[in-house]
Amino acid sequence: MSEGEVRVRVAPSPTGDPHVGTAYQALFNYAFARGRGGKFVLRIEDTDRARSTKQSEEAILESLRWLGLPWDEGPDVGGPHGPYRQSERSEIYREHVNGLLKAGHAYRCFCTVERLGEMRAEQRAKGEMLGYDRLCRSVAAQESQKRANSRESFVVRMKVPVEGHCVIHDILHGEVHKDWASVDDQIILKSDGFPTYHLANVVDDHLMGITHVIRGEEWLNSVPKHLKLYEYFGWTPPLFCHLPLLRNEDKSKLSKRKNPTSIHYYRRAGYFPQALLNFLGMMGWLMPNGEEKFTLEEMCENLKLEDISLGGPVFDRQKLKWLNARYIREDYTDEALHEELERWAINREMNGRIVPLAHMRLQTLADWGYLTAAFFADEVPVNPEDLLMKGKTAEELAGIFQMTIWKLEELQDFSKGFLEILFQELAEKFEVKLKQFTMPYYVALSGRKAWTPLFDSMEVLGSDMTRMRLRRAIDLLGGISGKKLRKLENEYSAMFD
Ligand code: GLU
Repeated sequence: MSEGEVRVRVAPSPTGDPHVGTAYQALFNYAFARGRGGKFVLRIEDTDRARSTKQSEEAILESLRWLGLPWDEGPDVGGPHGPYRQSERSEIYREHVNGLLKAGHAYRCFCTVERLGEMRAEQRAKGEMLGYDRLCRSVAAQESQKRANSRESFVVRMKVPVEGHCVIHDILHGEVHKDWASVDDQIILKSDGFPTYHLANVVDDHLMGITHVIRGEEWLNSVPKHLKLYEYFGWTPPLFCHLPLLRNEDKSKLSKRKNPTSIHYYRRAGYFPQALLNFLGMMGWLMPNGEEKFTLEEMCENLKLEDISLGGPVFDRQKLKWLNARYIREDYTDEALHEELERWAINREMNGRIVPLAHMRLQTLADWGYLTAAFFADEVPVNPEDLLMKGKTAEELAGIFQMTIWKLEELQDFSKGFLEILFQELAEKFEVKLKQFTMPYYVALSGRKAWTPLFDSMEVLGSDMTRMRLRRAIDLLGGISGKKLRKLENEYSAMFD
């Protein structure tokens, strides 16, 4: 690391679809680093062993590549501060936790789940603030060691001051004060020996020489704990810049219920990576000349973190579409557009996947157009009256679609065989014959009652597009209220756990 070099990072957790929020943060980090001749690091934060998957990690890397945001150091390209996957750094975290234990900045907590439950119930009953009561802080060092040696299960917590307040300096938020009394003795090492986000994040940002932490606003509240850890380790903290969160139109935090959030979806729906990046760049930031259409290079040259505005930027899909259309109109000749269409989906590979599905359903070659249109579309026109399942009301069907979406989200392998098993299970649970059960899915996904075979077609359509169309069908059926959704969640757990 050369003196004064800017080093930034994006640190996604591989626990689901590659999220546009990750792209947004990657973009601002990338542009900031490029504009200053700095380095952009990709770190995979996979300490949540139950939720992290290899598929998700690969999808994130692939999506960032598609967007054109290459990283200088990362799990695939390596670099001088690796490994860049937290699951491969356990030893490093353990050493650091041991250091904190030795210095008395952290302690083992042997409290059982039951005890913590009782403690919380009591706090609730008394109307007190919920939080760990620090009982195990008083376990003497020797006893703590003995209990650990005898394999009693424990977590490690950091000591957080019980009074006074912490001052955070943030490039965008300025000075932020937080009372220590509102901060818990955070768990830094879990009973499975894996660190929590807070510890791993601080240790890695330091060891990887990160100079600016540019990330989502939801982490601002965690900064006091992080600053304390920097202090305990005797390290200088990086500069912090917490970006505003992307929002739905109603200003709630961007959620897949109201907007597709997977980068895959936008790719499949025919958006250009440069238009998506441009659009994300507009979220809270403006080019000095006020021009809305700008290149990544222009953003790199002009981005100043101080210029980002904190008003919750709305992820307005109409605007994104408008911008994408400008790219098509202004930047492409017919020939170049032809090439883009081929790259996107109008190609041998895609047709090769569809021909076997359409083969037995074509009467003439000219049937191809209407039969396969749904594979080359974003939204398909659906007549809500065609969304019917025998014996179910529209509201019930909306609920069934929602549960299907949850099931599909859990599906690791979105292929025909697994889809078929999943639908058989669903049909059984809802006590509808498979044939009748699948009817409204044909309509929701293709807009038509007769289509190519359902499970094969879903596989070609892909998980993101399939779920988006089901979500849209739910809207056409009248939507699901927040209250109803919570009820459905409970029913879902009872049905499938
Ligand atoms: N793994 C965290 C996330 O996915 C990273 C937060 C950070 O950048 O510190 O949100």
